[in-house]
Amino acid sequence: MIPLPTDQLLTIDRQHVWHPYAAMPNPLPIFPVKSAQGVYLELEDGRTLVDGMSSWWTCIHGYNHPRLNQAARDQIDRMSHVMFGGLTHQPAVQLAQRLVELTPDPLQQVFFCDSGSVSVEVAMKMAIQYWYNLGQPQKHRFLTVRGGYHGDTFDAMSVCDPVNGMHHLFNQVLRQQYFADVPQIPFWGVWDDRDIASFEKLLADNHDQIAAAIFEPVVQGAGGMRFYSPDYVRRAKELCEQYGVLLILDEIATGFGRTGKLFACEHADISPDILCIGKAISGGFMSLAATLTTPKISQVFAQGEAGVFMHGPTFMANPLACAVALESIAILESYDWQTQIQTIETQLKTGLATCRESPLVKDVRVLGAIGVVELHEPVDMAIIQSQIVDQGVWLRPFGKLLYTMPPYIIQPEELHRITTAMVALTRDGG
Ligand SMILES: *Cc1c(COP(=O)(O)O)cnc(C)c1O
Repeated sequence: MIPLPTDQLLTIDRQHVWHPYAAMPNPLPIFPVKSAQGVYLELEDGRTLVDGMSSWWTCIHGYNHPRLNQAARDQIDRMSHVMFGGLTHQPAVQLAQRLVELTPDPLQQVFFCDSGSVSVEVAMKMAIQYWYNLGQPQKHRFLTVRGGYHGDTFDAMSVCDPVNGMHHLFNQVLRQQYFADVPQIPFWGVWDDRDIASFEKLLADNHDQIAAAIFEPVVQGAGGMRFYSPDYVRRAKELCEQYGVLLILDEIATGFGRTGKLFACEHADISPDILCIGKAISGGFMSLAATLTTPKISQVFAQGEAGVFMHGPTFMANPLACAVALESIAILESYDWQTQIQTIETQLKTGLATCRESPLVKDVRVLGAIGVVELHEPVDMAIIQSQIVDQGVWLRPFGKLLYTMPPYIIQPEELHRITTAMVALTRDGG
């Protein structure tokens, strides 16, 4: 590949390349990245930005990590891909084994897929087929909480927040699900059972139609960056058991240490029937996700009329992605990441505190390596994105939310650059 001059690159990009959540042609500023190293993105014009986004929360060890690169090279020289129907390989088997070891005990079976949204689809299909096999085909709907985000494919969209979610345009064609109120009690708050009353009522009234409850434990990500009480998660698990409904936890955003625990369900000391993981699983290297479940669920499939689970992505368990994911987990285990997340949490709390003084700011909240500044009004992306880059950092706000989820390897002075930029951006709108 011969590099194009930057102006030509941007012209072709504007004409032909569709970006996420973007219009065509794209009227918003866009920044070409030449390379990335550690916590830095290097732009084509030579500027370097401290990355506060970890490339949508994936790149926990930083960019261009020598160990991840080496794992990929070693695997490329053996094979980059083979189909997974009727074949298996070292990276998939070893990764499955590690995931089973790392996740809560009853989770024993791993279904690999290509992206988070697909892992959610797989989880929902598993829950539906589970009840179908048990002779209860009417249990095919889902209970979730408002304010959630589970991906952009159809059934995943159906359990995203129906009002503020990005998908209300599609409401007419989405399956209608049950939505409990947004959990109100904050992460450190004192528990009150009234917080889960609407969830309980929906279960009590509709459990004979509901296959599973699905939500993001403790942290609602792209649906609003809210942190809520682990007691909610604990009570939801009890209620699901009481009403004979499966529990699906979506830990695509929270998995692999982001909230201070390896998985956010550990804050509540519970385990789901089905767990979705993705994003940070491969250290931001390439797309990979997985849906894990328990013998209680998986055993039922062989008994059913189909005899199998009818799902199988073409690039299922891609060896390259699995090999890199295995190495990413090994890196995470090679240092005291808990202390590192605590250090980031402490620095985010002090660094973002002054944002509260701005009349533009509604709330500031921090949990683990997640720092959120909620504004009263939505940001203007046409203006703020360039202001962010001018501060020497990379952040990607959405709606009323300016937030950071930095790579875990970030150093204090680099994180300082991010918090200083966030304070400046909220002080006078940049
Ligand atoms: C990002 C995300 C998804 C979707 O994952 P993709 O890989 O983008 O399909 C689903 N659920 C949660 C909680 C997420 O943060």
